[in-house]
Amino acid sequence: RGTDGVTSEDTLLLMKPNIVGRAEMDVQRIVTESGLRVILTRTLQMDKMQASQFYTEHQERSFFAELVDYVSSGPVVAMLISGPDAIRHLRKIVGPTDPAIARLEHPNSLRALFGVDKTMNSFHASDSHESASREIHFINSY
Ligand code: ADP
Ligand code: MG
Repeated sequence: RGTDGVTSEDTLLLMKPNIVGRAEMDVQRIVTESGLRVILTRTLQMDKMQASQFYTEHQERSFFAELVDYVSSGPVVAMLISGPDAIRHLRKIVGPTDPAIARLEHPNSLRALFGVDKTMNSFHASDSHESASREIHFINSY
């Protein structure tokens, strides 16, 4: 529970390989200024097997191989984020999947600012309590 009595929840933000080493301070600042807390930051490298497991829900999609190659192409920075309604709030800060749409509709979102294209959109954010819990465990088990 936060000091205001609102229940806090945890979620996961991943900076994908193309953005690692560039925007970490900006990202931390944007997340913090939005009222969320960065509890813990960890840099790790996923191999193809781990990236496939992380994105297992997308294994039948046409872009799966490309996605796995992308996410395993270098280190990722995992951030454990906490706050009231953090899962929904963080998704909003990250913005739409496609950075081109993000730039049109949510120009201040992280994907609008730092995303490249539909695949290389620079960030992952958990989309539900279930995926937040699964993904935090996944990152913690490294
Ligand atoms: P989000 O990350 O916004 O929750 P999805 O869960 O739909 O988006 O997709 C997971 C990741 O797969 C995206 O963040 C992006 O890197 C990649 N991706 C999604 N849709 C496409 C697409 N149509 N073409 C290429 N890559 C995609
Ligand atoms: Mg998703």
